Amino acid sequence: MKILVMGPPGAGKGSQSAKIVERYKIPSISTGHMFREAYNNNDPVGIEAMKFIKNGNLVSDEITNEIVRHRLKEEDAERSFLLDGYPRTVRQAVALDEMLVKMGTGLSAVINILSSNDVLFERMEARRVCKKCGATYHLVFKKPHVNGVCDKCGGELYQREDDTLESVKRRLEIYESKTKPLLDYYDKKGILYHINGMQPFDKVYADIELVLRDL
Ligand code: ADP
Ligand code: ADP
Ligand code: ZN
Repeated sequence: MKILVMGPPGAGKGSQSAKIVERYKIPSISTGHMFREAYNNNDPVGIEAMKFIKNGNLVSDEITNEIVRHRLKEEDAERSFLLDGYPRTVRQAVALDEMLVKMGTGLSAVINILSSNDVLFERMEARRVCKKCGATYHLVFKKPHVNGVCDKCGGELYQREDDTLESVKRRLEIYESKTKPLLDYYDKKGILYHINGMQPFDKVYADIELVLRDL
């Protein structure tokens, strides 16, 4: 199973990806998570990437393709993987296709999670992330048991540098101009599935399951 989870920022890609990888026991590859982790570890790639991320801009295709290329070479990604938040540009999609052709494989499905902008703004404002493990919370819909503390690992919860009003606006514009065209790219390949992301967590996941179980 080789799947992509797409959708605008805040649609629920990370939340649903976490459920999918737990259920199917496949590795999750999230470029956003990898960049944040690298930044929190003071890694030079992370520091460079954060200059773009905090203003809501995309990290360059070169840097992004390189970290994915590197990650896909690891043994656990040979048979199955879930890509969350990559590709985000047509150039990245073409680069990914090249990587997969070299691996002798291709994508099984692209799950596109849809949402309205009002919902996206509200979700990103109330999003909190664990500094240690990257788990995601919401101040109303997915509250941690103890305020400010991760249920899973006890790590500190923080608000992402790019979850500010200005940055969210910019990310939505970039999504429209650079990422949305990819939907057409995957639709033409006949592997695109749309999911209504404005439903409760479990209902969104149930709809995704219906697609995955038939692959
Ligand atoms: P993305 O990875 O697409 O940016 P996240 O999974 O981080 O999105 O979700 C954004 C925020 O919205 C998080 O705070 C998350 O807890 C919350 N969220 C995600 N899906 C839902 C849902 N179906 N209902 C309510 N809140 C949700
Ligand atoms: P979200 O979907 O909630 O905006 P992500 O965690 O997927 O968040 O990504 C956060 C940021 O990391 C993006 O706004 C962008 O700056 C950078 N990033 C993540 N994935 C990519 C990518 N494939 N190409 C370029 N930049 C990326
Ligand atoms: Zn944690």
